[in-house]
Amino acid sequence: MSTNQEIAEEAHIHGGLDIGGTKIALGLVDSSGHVLAERYFPTADYPVLKDAVQRISVEFSELCTQSNCQITSLGIGCTGQMDPEKGEVLNLEYFPDWRGPGLVQGLSQNLGIPVWLANDAETAALGEWAFGAGQGARSFVMVTVGTGIGVAVLQDGRLWRGVGGCHPEIGHHLLDPSGPECFCGLHGCWESLAGGIAMEAWAQSQNPQGSHFTARELCALAGQGDPLAQQAVERTAHYLGLGLSNLVTIFTPNVICLAGGLIESAAHFLPSIQKEINQGCKLVPSQQVDLRLTRLGSRAVMVGATLLPTLRSQR
Ligand SMILES: [Zn+2]
Repeated sequence: MSTNQEIAEEAHIHGGLDIGGTKIALGLVDSSGHVLAERYFPTADYPVLKDAVQRISVEFSELCTQSNCQITSLGIGCTGQMDPEKGEVLNLEYFPDWRGPGLVQGLSQNLGIPVWLANDAETAALGEWAFGAGQGARSFVMVTVGTGIGVAVLQDGRLWRGVGGCHPEIGHHLLDPSGPECFCGLHGCWESLAGGIAMEAWAQSQNPQGSHFTARELCALAGQGDPLAQQAVERTAHYLGLGLSNLVTIFTPNVICLAGGLIESAAHFLPSIQKEINQGCKLVPSQQVDLRLTRLGSRAVMVGATLLPTLRSQR
């Protein structure tokens, strides 16, 4: 008779955890990238790490009981700066209590399984490359445009990581030194010009006494012909395109996958983005770069996180 652990290993059910600025999502994922069961709750309720570890542990236990299975590993894709080699949270904005190895160690202890940690842009890229829009791409760039911009690069299925195992912060590469100040310390980095918050701030600056609109609302208003919203969309598309042009010139990817809240309004942005790339990348075969939209959507981070244990064998 097989033990539960043996059954889980045969079935290859893994835990995936997506810790974002707004919500924490967790799920059971099979080896084909299918989400068998999932749950969500607000990140803002858990500024204290031990409370978060407890809640996540309980949620996973309940999910496993309900689904009549066990997980053999847990992968975490977390917003902010991570040290994937040490399994430590370096900087999670607004949540200083989360710093250090406590997240990985606490969950590993509670769940009795190995736990892996990476930046959420990285795990989203792993998920899309393995199961979504990036399948078959030798050189793959994943760009998530929400409130900010997260980017990860895969070459032959391997994550591009540098010194200290750190992933490049491409969302903060410099586009215009005369641009707005960003928390990263630069003025005019990509995120400060083309992220959702940047779009909202610019629209507000053009009409300080007017209502504040979210990026999603601005896209909807642009579709209805509102001139200021249309300008905001055009400006964002211009800077998105400039940044993507830089990525095309630097990495010559086969595929760029676009994801995130702002990209849900892709129809507003894609023509301008394509134009910027065609105009700005004359020295590389930019026409061959395949610009695709996410297939995994909001599940990319969670699904991709379950692949983190496989990275160990790549070292
Ligand atoms: Zn920045």
